[in-house]
Formats: sequence, structure tokens, C-alpha cells
Amino acid sequence: MKHVKDPGPNGGRVLTEVEPHMEFLVTKDRKVQIIPLTEDLKPGKLTGQTASIMAGDRTSPTKMSFTADGDKLVSDIAFPEGDDFPLVLQHRSSADSKPTTIKFTMNFTDCPTCDYLEYACICDHEH
Ligand SMILES: [Zn+2]
Repeated sequence: MKHVKDPGPNGGRVLTEVEPHMEFLVTKDRKVQIIPLTEDLKPGKLTGQTASIMAGDRTSPTKMSFTADGDKLVSDIAFPEGDDFPLVLQHRSSADSKPTTIKFTMNFTDCPTCDYLEYACICDHEH
């Protein structure tokens, strides 16, 4: 089994699309935390980043907004029941910068070949 990505320090997905990289983590209560990372992928300091999420069915999406709690961004609400739904994350490195749009599938299944859930999978298996 080949690791093709680095794991997040808390077991979440590393968002390599943004600098500094951020960790996207779903907590046990299905809320989202977004945590800034240092160059060696350790939890770092928030420097004004903001985020918002649209997830699920286009006709009735779940919209999350985030507030800073210490050095994490935490979502206002939790994901509703369900698995395997599309997610669009808009990330801004500061309130007035252009957003970076990141899309992936929110999948809470255990990956069969690495130690992470599918949304945070670090191996190269075929889904
Ligand atoms: Zn995997």
C-alpha cells in the first residue's frame, strides 16, 4: 500500500490547495474544524483565514459558516445524517482575499487500505 498524501495531525484531510495548508476535520458530533498547519504539518496559528461550506443536495444544501475558536475555525452547525455527499468549501486566507474553492466527496467510510476515513484517505486505492 502506497501513501500518496500526508495525513493531517488530527486524522483529517490536508487541504493542499491553500497556503498555508489547512486540516479539514469532522468531529464526532459531525461538526467541521479547519485547522491551519505549519510547513511540517503540525497545528499552526490562524492568521485571519475564513471559510464557508455548502454540502449535500443542491436543492437543499447544508450551509456552514465558521468562527475562530482559538487557532481553529469551527462550524456553526453539524452535517445532517448521511454519507457520501458532495461538498464545496470556500476558503479565504483573509476576509478580503479571493476565495479558493475546494470540492470533494464527504465520505465517512473507513478506507479499506489505510488508517483514515475516506474523506481523509492518504493512500492511492481506487474508490
Ligand atoms: Zn486510504
